[in-house]
Formats: sequence, structure tokens, C-alpha cells
Amino acid sequence: MAIALGYMLALGVVLAALLVIANRFLFVFQDPRIDEVESALPHTNCGACGEAGCRIFAEKLIVGDVQPGQCTVNSHDNSKAIADCGQREVHGLWRLRRDLPETAF
Ligand code: SF4
Repeated sequence: MAIALGYMLALGVVLAALLVIANRFLFVFQDPRIDEVESALPHTNCGACGEAGCRIFAEKLIVGDVQPGQCTVNSHDNSKAIADCGQREVHGLWRLRRDLPETAF
């Protein structure tokens, strides 16, 4: 019985160590602003913006490929809120703040 418990404990420790290592080396950074922008979108995934869905739209908005006004379902006020999420200027040309950590790339 004690041997079986020892094996189970050792197996648990080894598997936990593997998970820690995998988490360390397989980690993929994703800009947290994408989640903020996506949560502010209507979540209808209607495709009226020309993208496959709201998540793709949020990802492209963060890198500057689309602008909040291209989501035709949103109100103007909500577009402003989305712009704030992406830390961009609302008026005129959009400016992307390049404040991502070096580990992001
Ligand atoms: S138009 Fe707006 S609601 Fe429709 S898919 Fe694009 S981002 Fe989502």
C-alpha cells in the first residue's frame, strides 16, 4: 500500500513538473486589450465589418488594421469606448500605442 502511494505521489510530482515546464515554454502572449475590445463589441458575429467575427475584428483593431467605426452594429458612443480600450485616439487618424512588453514578440 505504501509503495503504491509512493508511486502515485512521485507520478503526481513528475506530471506537475511537466505542466510547469510546458507552461513556461509553450506560453503564447496575447495582448490583453484584445479581450477588452472584444467584450465591448456587440458579440453578434454578424460579419458586417467584413471579418469572420467579433474576435477577429478585435485582434485586427489592436494592430490597427480596422477602426472601431467599421463595426456597423455599434453605436458611436460604444465605438469611443472601444477606442479607449485599445488606447487609441478617437478623432482623426488612429494611433496605436506600442507599449507591449518585449516578451510579446
Ligand atoms: S460588424 Fe461588429 S458585431 Fe458584426 S462581426 Fe463585425 S465586430 Fe462583430
